[in-house]
Amino acid sequence: MAKYLEKQFPQVNDAFDGHIHMHRWIDEETKEEFLHGLEAYRKRCNLKYIALAPLPSGDPFPVARDVSNNIICAFYKLLNENTFSYGGFTYPFYPATEENMAGMTLLEQYEELMEIGFDGIKMLEGKPNLYKRVSNPLDSSFFAPVFERIERDGTYLLMHVADPEIFWIEADEETKKRGWFYGDGTYPKYEELYTQIYNILNRHPNLNLCLAHFFFLSENPERLSKMLDTYPNLMVDLTPGGEMYVGFDKRKDYFKEFLVKYDDRICFGTDMDFPDRGDAGTWLCDRVYRYLATTDTLSSFCEHELTGIEIPQNSLQKIFSDNLLNKLGKEPRPINKEALKRYIEKYKHLIIDKRLTKRIEELSEEYL
Ligand SMILES: [Zn+2]
Repeated sequence: MAKYLEKQFPQVNDAFDGHIHMHRWIDEETKEEFLHGLEAYRKRCNLKYIALAPLPSGDPFPVARDVSNNIICAFYKLLNENTFSYGGFTYPFYPATEENMAGMTLLEQYEELMEIGFDGIKMLEGKPNLYKRVSNPLDSSFFAPVFERIERDGTYLLMHVADPEIFWIEADEETKKRGWFYGDGTYPKYEELYTQIYNILNRHPNLNLCLAHFFFLSENPERLSKMLDTYPNLMVDLTPGGEMYVGFDKRKDYFKEFLVKYDDRICFGTDMDFPDRGDAGTWLCDRVYRYLATTDTLSSFCEHELTGIEIPQNSLQKIFSDNLLNKLGKEPRPINKEALKRYIEKYKHLIIDKRLTKRIEELSEEYL
């Protein structure tokens, strides 16, 4: 069995990876800057489009997660065609109390991001470690005005909520080191997060929400099926979480039917990131595509051997391209240079890495 397909996504036109990160602005090893740093991946994997999901909030180590991540994603979008990008909310201090937010309401940030030309919003605030820092329930009045506005505008909202349930029960040393063990009583409970999403969706039933990583429900797909039947705009993405595919494999026939039945509600992503080193991105594309499109047996996620389920071509076309293009618009929104300049001026004092502040100032001079 070939390690990878010779050409990725052979049965799909205009393949679209809708979930990619810009984890750094410079590859400290090669000194390559982010400016075109995912183009090699995009071309190598035969992707027509990618969408960047900035991480402007969260744990500052080892990656500077601050407003700069929105800014470099905006520059990337400006300098590379076929690139969409979501924007994310910034928190100057945690917890996000009124005092700590210092007037930076989410609604105002949302308006600024949309004015810059971001194509949607990404929220990581439902991931338990960031949830704990922000310390405002997702269904609280802190978030309510922005969800209301996002629903009204029909803006696409990609949200990471919860994590695999096992992270509440046990975790190996590596997971603990990454801060992903949530069983010590200081994190929101697993069920609480699901309840909060139900509350948001009941208030905003038309929200254009995409729950990343299959909403971690591959062990309980009946629950997801009910949600998809209830909320007409709800989507999920197939971004690994390798445990998702192990879950799929336990009920192959069920999931084959599920993926075809909801083929207009599911989209593709990899969680690929910059710097693009080795062949991690190729491996991710190859594994997700081949699992859905072929009957190949592959060494795969979580060291689990997977045999593909081979769903029909028209379902593949929707999942690997059409659904995201329908949601985000047929092409990336243009960057409004004046608005980006204003945003940089307003927020650059929040950037932790002062080398990056300097580089952003140079890029503004050159491109804006
Ligand atoms: Zn991600």
